[in-house]
Amino acid sequence: MNFELSEEQQMLRKTVRDFVDHEIMPHIGEWDAKGHFDTDTLKKISKLGLMGVCIPFKYGGSGMDYNSLAIVCEELERGDTAFRTAVSVHTGLNSMTLLQWGNEDQKAKYLVPQAKGEKVGAFGLTEPGAGSDVASLQSTAKRDGDDYILNGQKTWISLCDTADHFLVFAYTDKEKSHHGISCFIVERTMTGFSSKATKGKLGIRAGNTGELFFDDVRVPKENLLGKEGDGFKIAMAALDNGRFTVAAGACGQIMACLEASVEYCHERKTFGKEIGKHQLVKQMIANMEAGLQMSRLLVWKAGELKNKGKRNTRETSLAKWQACDFANKAADDAVQIHGAYGYSNEYPVERYLRNSKAPVIYEGTREIHTIMQADYVLGYRKDKSLDQMLPEWPFED
Ligand SMILES: Cc1cc2nc3c(=O)[nH]c(=O)nc-3n(C[C@H](O)[C@H](O)[C@H](O)COP(=O)(O)OP(=O)(O)OC[C@H]3O[C@@H](n4cnc5c(N)ncnc54)[C@H](O)[C@@H]3O)c2cc1C
Repeated sequence: MNFELSEEQQMLRKTVRDFVDHEIMPHIGEWDAKGHFDTDTLKKISKLGLMGVCIPFKYGGSGMDYNSLAIVCEELERGDTAFRTAVSVHTGLNSMTLLQWGNEDQKAKYLVPQAKGEKVGAFGLTEPGAGSDVASLQSTAKRDGDDYILNGQKTWISLCDTADHFLVFAYTDKEKSHHGISCFIVERTMTGFSSKATKGKLGIRAGNTGELFFDDVRVPKENLLGKEGDGFKIAMAALDNGRFTVAAGACGQIMACLEASVEYCHERKTFGKEIGKHQLVKQMIANMEAGLQMSRLLVWKAGELKNKGKRNTRETSLAKWQACDFANKAADDAVQIHGAYGYSNEYPVERYLRNSKAPVIYEGTREIHTIMQADYVLGYRKDKSLDQMLPEWPFED
């Protein structure tokens, strides 16, 4: 066990932090108020190489380890959840899935431009009638010669209007329940594809979330990821990586809550002293610090297992569940510490509170992770080894 960041990781943290301070912090209040997803900022994130940080050099990435991705997510979410979510779906859910399950042709065509940040990837699993219960999805893909004909609808998809490529899950054989789900690489430019952003969200208003529609979309058979019927296990393996980035981002959210709260504690006086000197306020600050440190340890443990090429579903689920709950509580307490001022957008903490709710819902709700953890302990759930694992780090190339 080594808890010290390498020199390269320290530089990475500083680079992302400087970027967030200069390119996101000054504008995020306005973007959030207007519901504007700033694609120019996403392009700048790509130019910095942050969209492929843990993808091997030979596939266009920076070749850093999986905990470096956690550092990127932590620092980005210190700025806002929207840009961390973009990296989560692009890198965690899409690119790492291509790395784990794609053949060499698929990697050359889709992973390389995504890792270089030239193209954006996203992940289409959720449907109007299928969230936690993935097997209830209704989308279908019927084989027709050398193609599949894809029909259906996805909802709550991050980067719905922005991404170039989507991993889309649909039934190729409904009779086989979740063993009949397959995964396809779908391009935005394919005929019959359309998307529509969702308005009126509680949080992540500076992000892009919405629906995807597939109307007889002809997807070449070369775009089937894995084999027919592999879709469910590919989706679950993808979530091991997506959840990891969400957990890391939650640490950044707690850091932001701490920064704002500590500053306010020194600034605001009641009963003749700084509010930070009142014991019950100290309690909230102490809880935030404990939440940050515990969450980070859980994230790094999951990252270390990824580095070693080991299955980490259990550890990642625990990290995601706990870190998101801690972040949600930290944001609630940050508003509390700011009193009425925390209730207005004069201070950023109301945005933190709104943003902290979605991560408790997406990539496995709090309840789903609670059940998973109990089932592991009770012996009701055991993970089998997967046919394909992420490559161990250091990468071979
Ligand atoms: C901002 C945002 C971005 C998102 N981005 C994406 C994306 O990029 N791609 C994508 O595919 N999806 C995305 N999602 C969707 C997200 O993953 C789903 O919302 C999530 O899986 C929960 O599904 P649901 O909303 O249908 O809730 P449901 O599954 O309908 O759950 C409703 C409630 O019932 C509880 N519940 C359900 N089953 C059980 C059970 N067995 N035991 C106990 N309680 C249970 C849940 O915990 C929850 O409280 C996003 C969602 C949001 C909010």
